[in-house]
Amino acid sequence: MRATLLLRNIDRANTIGFLGLGAMGRGMAANLLNKTFAGQQGVFTPSSTASKPTFVVYDPFAPALNDFLSTHTRAYAGRDVVPASSPAGVVRLASTVVTMLPSATEVEEVYLGENGFREGLEGLSDERREGTLFIDCTTGNRDHARGVAKEMEALGAAMVDAPVSGGVVGAEKGTLSFMVGGPEEAFNRAQPYLEKMGARYIHCGESGNGLAVKICNNLLLGISMVGTAEAMLLGRSLGLSPELLASVINTSTGRCWSSESNNPAPGATPQIPTPADRGYTGGFLSKLMSKDLKLALASAATSSTPLPLGQLTATLYDKLSAHDEFAARDFSVVFEYLNQAREGALNGAGAGKKGEGVN
Ligand code: NAD
Repeated sequence: MRATLLLRNIDRANTIGFLGLGAMGRGMAANLLNKTFAGQQGVFTPSSTASKPTFVVYDPFAPALNDFLSTHTRAYAGRDVVPASSPAGVVRLASTVVTMLPSATEVEEVYLGENGFREGLEGLSDERREGTLFIDCTTGNRDHARGVAKEMEALGAAMVDAPVSGGVVGAEKGTLSFMVGGPEEAFNRAQPYLEKMGARYIHCGESGNGLAVKICNNLLLGISMVGTAEAMLLGRSLGLSPELLASVINTSTGRCWSSESNNPAPGATPQIPTPADRGYTGGFLSKLMSKDLKLALASAATSSTPLPLGQLTATLYDKLSAHDEFAARDFSVVFEYLNQAREGALNGAGAGKKGEGVN
């Protein structure tokens, strides 16, 4: 009954869809919804907007969907924040759709699979298809993303890849940076939505280029984190205090984001609390770093680019992510992983965690 009423009354051009209400998506969707319904300042006055935007959400993980709905339907009583039963259902109801999914596999499933966006679009008029914009914020494979964008464009819709940096805190605070790939016109159409979820958005060129930039950045981030962890661990093994070593590195040529803002050695930067200071909780998970390094290796394979350090770093994060205690912690936990390898060696158990080699 409710769904029938909605389908009849919904103003599709004025409706936003959001899929993937996980660690990142729930904060991004909340900002997009709050700033759409209540204005950039986040103050909701029921009479402030003549037109009535609607927000449609979908996530197959029921707790994620229910949490989001119970929070926001209460906050915006009288407005429509509604669930759809499939990705196809979302695109039938909404002309602008944001996706924030785990990986390229889910992107292909949601866009091209059964009950996916392609099926939803196929049932719409040409005018409605042309009015459709997809903003995919997933960190996925660049070539797959290009293929999906081509399929959407063949049906008349526009699509940008818009992966983010800034983490869960940035998603919640609305301070993310978006790296956007796709046609200029699609980028311009995406801007009003991106600015509600982030502080910066950069057009990086054609479809797939947002992901290319993201993947290159995270390749360097992974390498620089491992380098920082090695230097900090060697320093501690040689009897240096982490705070002293970090203060010298951070005013010298070894300085980088990993040494300065996310130092992997506990106690290294007392003035800047890091995940290392709270048992490596919060932050950017090792398993996500492992995924991103694999994306870099896949892109390197298709472009014949040698990545010797990238390969070593990817192998290290792959091994580390095989252990639950490391996989779901901030990626600076590589310091602790190497430390355990050192202790294993000192105790005569050989290098590596539980007897395994570290590289
Ligand atoms: P997550 O696993 O917490 O959330 C993903 C959500 O997608 C889940 O709620 C899941 O149920 C949902 N989902 C899975 N299949 C779906 C489908 N078919 N349709 C709709 N929803 C579906 O992941 P996350 O941490 O939010 O990360 C999302 C993306 O952002 C990843 O690509 C990740 O690499 C990237 N990213 C994450 C961070 C971070 O710090 N977590 C930072 C930058 C980028």
